[in-house]
Amino acid sequence: MISTIDFVAEINRMRKEKNAVILAHYYQTGDIQDIADCVGDSLALAQWAAKTTADIIVLCGVHFMGETAKILSPEKKVLVPDLAAGCSLADSCPADEFEKFVKTHPGYQVISYVNTTAAVKALTDVVVTSTNARKIVDSFPKDAKLIFGPDRNLGNYINSITGRNMLLWDGACHVHEQFSLEKIIELKKEYPEAEVIAHPECKQPILMIADFIGSTAALLKHTRESPKTQFIVTTESGVIHEMRKCSPQKIFIPAPPNDSTCACNECNFMRLNTMEKLYLCLRDEKPEIWVDPDIRERAVKPIHRMLELS
Ligand code: SF4
Repeated sequence: MISTIDFVAEINRMRKEKNAVILAHYYQTGDIQDIADCVGDSLALAQWAAKTTADIIVLCGVHFMGETAKILSPEKKVLVPDLAAGCSLADSCPADEFEKFVKTHPGYQVISYVNTTAAVKALTDVVVTSTNARKIVDSFPKDAKLIFGPDRNLGNYINSITGRNMLLWDGACHVHEQFSLEKIIELKKEYPEAEVIAHPECKQPILMIADFIGSTAALLKHTRESPKTQFIVTTESGVIHEMRKCSPQKIFIPAPPNDSTCACNECNFMRLNTMEKLYLCLRDEKPEIWVDPDIRERAVKPIHRMLELS
């Protein structure tokens, strides 16, 4: 009976036996974050995947993260606990439509957020994450013609802080799009001392009232270092697990979604992964991520370029 299995003990045993490394995104549930060898944002997970000497990488995140790990380490077996863990942002940018968009803008260089499929990365000049997007955009000459995809909110934000006018693909993440400005303002009245901290995938009105805007890693660092003790966290609420671990004396309030009847500030794709599925995927060594070799060859270049520029 699977319900009687001690998942923590079994996962620990198997990862040693199989020389496996477990990488988990900050949006995973707390139990998965606690058992992982590395917990990080997309950039940290890619950096780990590029350098690990493990034979098996178990990527506890969503599908494009597993693909990125496989692209960087094609000789390794890359597993994900649930293959159905997709991403609405990656889905908002189908490769065939993006290719048409790129072809209608000759002379433009293409910058893609890491939240894309391998096929979109293969159409890209350089990949970015929210941690390094500003730095990488700044590395282009001021008059460079740039396409940025797929997140229009992040693209708008980077345009505003770099003075660029990048052409934006019209995609978005369903979690970051649905935070309620009105409810955050109400929360601020309840917690007047709290700082509103927001991920740049949020809509512009939210970013306009935020006291601090940053990537998942930057938000985490800010809450560790800030003298403030209360934060309204306007991003996927899974990151609060690590924030509380790093700053147990501080108060973290998840920003409310528009629809108060759902837990829309949680990514339903990320939450498909469970300890039971992590155990099963290590035991059975599946589901495994596969990337077409031709796509892999083209997609690895913009990822390496990102890692070099980071
Ligand atoms: S939170 Fe949004 S961008 Fe992140 S994995 Fe979920 S759907 Fe994709």
